[in-house]
Amino acid sequence: MPHAPRHVAVVGAGFSGAVMARELAEAGHRVDVFDSRAHVAGNCHTERQEGDVMVHVYGPHIFHTAHEHVWQYINRFGVMMPYNHRVKATTQGRVFSLPVNLLTINQFFGTTLTPVEAEAFIASKADTSITNPQTFREQGLRFVGPDLYAAFFDGYTRKQWGVDPEELPASILARLPVRFNYEDSYFNHPYQAIPRDGYTPIVANILDHPSISVTLGVAKSRADLAGFDHVVWSGPIDAYFGFEHGRLGYRTLDFDKKVHEGDFQGCPVMNYCDADVPYTRITEHKHFAPWESHDRTVTYHEYSRLCGPDDVPYYPIRLVKEKDQLRRYVDMVSALRNVTFVGRLGTYRYLDMDVTIHEALGASRALLDAWDAGRESAPFSVDPL
Ligand code: UDP
Repeated sequence: MPHAPRHVAVVGAGFSGAVMARELAEAGHRVDVFDSRAHVAGNCHTERQEGDVMVHVYGPHIFHTAHEHVWQYINRFGVMMPYNHRVKATTQGRVFSLPVNLLTINQFFGTTLTPVEAEAFIASKADTSITNPQTFREQGLRFVGPDLYAAFFDGYTRKQWGVDPEELPASILARLPVRFNYEDSYFNHPYQAIPRDGYTPIVANILDHPSISVTLGVAKSRADLAGFDHVVWSGPIDAYFGFEHGRLGYRTLDFDKKVHEGDFQGCPVMNYCDADVPYTRITEHKHFAPWESHDRTVTYHEYSRLCGPDDVPYYPIRLVKEKDQLRRYVDMVSALRNVTFVGRLGTYRYLDMDVTIHEALGASRALLDAWDAGRESAPFSVDPL
């Protein structure tokens, strides 16, 4: 190791913090990890409840990736079970398959179209006067037309984001494909799995290294960390600076947990797309583990709302106001010498788990390279803006 061993504080024991801690420890550094919650794994935390059903405590998490190295990495720390995520949607009094595919189209319109016919049919419904869609609504109308947009996207999105889809960027809709075949797998990635024993033991195993100490139930602020050579901050970027430029906006989720006998809805996730149903979706946790069998079942009715100071932040809103604030915080980061910001909260971006791991691996490599080169920091692995 060409550079001197550092004593590093990692704030946050989710995937970002754990992967950073592990990589730095394996490179010969001493790492103290802190998390304000009583468990590791952040919002990926899982727990067996009600007769041993594996519950995704902070909402559904399905691991999927196209990164071979990320797939290898997670398999080092736990047994990943093959799983293919399929989602159904209730809208306008009927149940459909998501993402919008040929079955959805044929059932919705009462047709028997082939792939080629369906593509032409949907193209005929599209609003071609929108040449360069900027907003979520424009993107929807341009690509699926008004009927499918109203049934599947408008109401769900109003509930999820709490604003008019005209105010949201088109990029949110780009997460969801429209397929002209009967493929109903929610994700396109070649690797898709759920950990047999849940996410929490995987993160605990990542953190299980002689040079890593983990302290839970302790909230750390910038001032508490002055004695460390370096800080990896996976908490909210605005919290690091004491919210000096105000709080960045997030959506939070409320889960109304219920316990039933048998099978409640027959699938892991049922979206409710109508605006007048107050919840966005119902998750039935035992269906994430089809290799297990349980008589009882646990469901979460999921409600989205604006995140307050004492709520758990989930989705960065990233509208114009937040982007302006974020820019100010990013400027403040450039004046720091020994802090690395990582993860969903540290970079204020919505990240899938595999991207989180991929970026944490990249950020630890960048930091070790910086130390080798005699620099103290590589503050961001990616541009948060
Ligand atoms: N979305 C929608 N209808 C649906 C599912 C999703 O309009 O039935 C929109 C919604 O705006 C959501 C976005 O697509 O925020 C991304 O959906 P995804 O399922 O990826 O969200 P996640 O499961 O990550 O919350």
